[in-house]
Formats: sequence, C-alpha cells, structure tokens
Amino acid sequence: MNPLDQANDDTLAAEPSPEQIAIAMARALSNTLALSHLCLTQRCRRSGKCKGDPRDCVAVGEALLSPDIVAGARLFLEGQLEGLSFDQAHANGPELIEAYAHWIARIERNPARRR
Ligand SMILES: [Zn+2]
Repeated sequence: MNPLDQANDDTLAAEPSPEQIAIAMARALSNTLALSHLCLTQRCRRSGKCKGDPRDCVAVGEALLSPDIVAGARLFLEGQLEGLSFDQAHANGPELIEAYAHWIARIERNPARRR
C-alpha cells in the first residue's frame, strides 16, 4: 500500500473529539510556554513536559504569568498552525510576541533548570 494513503486513512480514522482537540491545544500551549518549569506537579517538572491533563498546567501558567505572555504564546502557536514565520507572527502582535519571547529567554537562562 502507498504509505501516503495509509497516513490519510489513519488521519480519517483518528478524527479527534472536541475534547481531544482542547487537550492537544492545551498541551501545545503548555509546551510553547515551557510551563513544565512552573508546574506544581513533580511529574511535569521532572520530565520537562506536561504530563497528565495539560489543561491543569495551562491554568497554573495563566495564574502565574502576565496575560501578555500567554496571549503572545497563543499568537505564536496560531502562527505555527497557519505556517507563518516568526516574523509574520510577530507582525500580528509585536508587543505580545516580545513579552512571550522574553519569558522564554528568562526561563531558558534559569540556573535551576534541569536537563
Ligand atoms: Zn504540567
């Protein structure tokens, strides 16, 4: 079988439910925001990725981070989904994208970060 046909079949068979989409978006947002560094659960912090229900992690992130940072991450993520370059996403909301980029720069420099 043509591998491309196979891939298409899999995509159709795995039509995600709205809840699965919400979870996938929350997981993408939590990874985009590097929320595993803030997460209250050790599982997330240890693995460097949000485990369990990422909507919980996003709720924590939204409570702790400035709204500009979260909005910038959403904008960045939407840009990725639409295939925009960083510059194009930046043009859609320069202040928000910069708030997000500064957050990522700060968390990446965090000496407490474990690899
Ligand atoms: Zn988490």
